Amino acid sequence: MRPELLNPLFTEVEALKGVGPGLAKALKRLDLTRAVDLVYHLPTGAIDRIHAPEASHALVGRIVVIEVTPFEMRASAGRGPFRVYASDRAGNTITLTYFNNPGWAKKSLPLGEPKLVSGKLDAYGQDLQIVHPEVLALDKGADLPLREPVYGLTEGLTNRRMRELAMAALERAPELPEWIEPSLAAREGWRPWRAALSEAHADPYATDARRRLAYDEIFANQLALLLLRAYSRRRRSVPLQGDGRLTDKLRLPYMLTGAQRRVTEEIRGDMAQAAPMLRLLQGDVGSGKTLVALLAMLTAVESGAQAALLAPTEILARQHHATLISQLDAIGVRTAILTGREKGRARETVLMGLADGSIDILVGTHAIFQEKVAYKALGLAVIDEQHRFGVSQRLLLSAKAARPPHLLVMTATPIPRTLTLTHYGEMDVSRIDEMPPGRTPIETRVIVDEKIPDVIDGLGRHVAGGGQAYWVCPLVEESEKTDSAAAEQRAALLRLRFGPKVGLVHGRMKGPEKDAVMAAFVSSELAVLVATTVIEVGVDVANATLMIIEGAERFGLAQLHQLRGRVGRGAGHSICLLIRGQTLSETARARLALMRETNDGFRIAEEDLRLRGPGEILGTRQSGEAQFRVATPEDLAELAPIAQGDAQLLLDRDGGLDGPRGQAARTALYLFERDSAVGLIRSG
Ligand code: ADP
Ligand code: MG
Repeated sequence: MRPELLNPLFTEVEALKGVGPGLAKALKRLDLTRAVDLVYHLPTGAIDRIHAPEASHALVGRIVVIEVTPFEMRASAGRGPFRVYASDRAGNTITLTYFNNPGWAKKSLPLGEPKLVSGKLDAYGQDLQIVHPEVLALDKGADLPLREPVYGLTEGLTNRRMRELAMAALERAPELPEWIEPSLAAREGWRPWRAALSEAHADPYATDARRRLAYDEIFANQLALLLLRAYSRRRRSVPLQGDGRLTDKLRLPYMLTGAQRRVTEEIRGDMAQAAPMLRLLQGDVGSGKTLVALLAMLTAVESGAQAALLAPTEILARQHHATLISQLDAIGVRTAILTGREKGRARETVLMGLADGSIDILVGTHAIFQEKVAYKALGLAVIDEQHRFGVSQRLLLSAKAARPPHLLVMTATPIPRTLTLTHYGEMDVSRIDEMPPGRTPIETRVIVDEKIPDVIDGLGRHVAGGGQAYWVCPLVEESEKTDSAAAEQRAALLRLRFGPKVGLVHGRMKGPEKDAVMAAFVSSELAVLVATTVIEVGVDVANATLMIIEGAERFGLAQLHQLRGRVGRGAGHSICLLIRGQTLSETARARLALMRETNDGFRIAEEDLRLRGPGEILGTRQSGEAQFRVATPEDLAELAPIAQGDAQLLLDRDGGLDGPRGQAARTALYLFERDSAVGLIRSG
């Protein structure tokens, strides 16, 4: 249960003074629903004011606070502005201009009465003016702080109101016990939590305060992951040694690459232990992860256990299944598939086979880890390219079974080191850093969309020469429906020229339909495959050495990198054309330039992280997993390793988090809503 201390922070915003349903609705648009959300809604910048004894041209462009005395008012004809002429203490004239509400201006600026006015000083010709200044009584100068923090706002919410709300929420914030290691806090000069929070609201440029707040959430994240790791490692899996009797019989068409050999050894080493394996396998598209998974699964089967391989889509599941069957049927390993498409009798048969152990390896989509699927002896779970298979799912998988399976998570997303730490911090990492021989380098070019007719001509020559090509369609944020519509249009257009040699796959097609199109592309019946997403093109086609990505600026960098990895498999030259819209922001231009410049997945990933943030890269934006409110990618890079060390040290000394710092750390877990991690704390 959340400590009572935190309750005031977790009340709804409506509990704050003056917050009615209308304001609450506006706040909700910014995802601010509770007091805690408000206290962590930190200002993003500030307005800097200057107290000016007199108006001078040197101050033009600055926000000034100045004492003036109005001496004349003039309404202009028609819809023109209302002007108040005033003199400052040195006798300079300054014009206060109002485009509306002259009544208000007349009332607030009576002639002959000195007032403080504030606003941006403009020059028009020799004259100085302030448009719509704020007006205050002389003794209210303190109401205009020299530095006023500026908050992220939405319609129906002024900066001043937002600031009041933040202050009101802050008032509810209690002093919290310190969870940061004292020597670290001392070294960094960090103040206690509440003081740091106040400071971050008072001064948006208070870097130490912000850094401390960033550290807090990174620390809570690391602690949660370490607790998950410790918990998972306390569980006991069945050690899977393997005796080589099946592996020796395999007839692979090629030699393993050095990297495949190395990671396979790492995986086998883990699986031989009673502590469950928790391993992340990273490797670019085409680096040969499937084979590594196959070998790991064979090791499990040799040891009398079952293995399951989870794929993100139906197509990929079927492709994996086909690959496995082609290798494993001959050596008597029994493989089955289970997706949403297996129904009725077929489904029952698979379920029975899993329960009685007559199926050794199951491939499928998320269905394979559902309640109804009971394994006789699941020893190894392999997760392929499943971004949404986040921490909580990993936890579920381990918690459900009396004997949790060994776990191997595979990804082609080049994940920057900091994200590995913050999202897979409980796992060990293996990397395939070598491609199988024979991969050709990919030439990447950026082309503006008005050149599409030329591109289609080039496509014509490519196809005439016996080549195949992917045409990937723009990603439209709003819906899968619009994505599909764009792809359908493009396919229709290409068919005008290439006739029935153009195939189309998109997310709204049914499984069997998609499979048929893919099969036709693989068998070269189709020359051009129009597709909407990365996943749909996850098939090997040697002749497809050309990829055209339309609307490339709308894709993430890592996604583009993965997409283009699909060409470059065949012999000869491979080309990826990035088609971009004509009006591009500076950043989009820079991103596409980077794609052309480098093929280094990790460099691309770092850049992607900088530009789009972690949620986009890992696909966790919607799931809300490991989101950071304060910490920036730079903070993560710098502070995550420190936080991991600190959290580990704490757990080493006080694994049950019972001591004063341990208790404080529990509070941090609740504050950052890592409640489920609290349940993993070792008791006794
Ligand atoms: P990934 O899943 O890492 O993207 P795959 O496992 O699909 O890559 O492998 C890509 C292609 O490379 C497949 O056609 C596979 O048969 C082939 N391949 C895998 N390992 C090797 C190897 N050691 N030598 C040659 N080709 C390989
Ligand atoms: Mg793969």
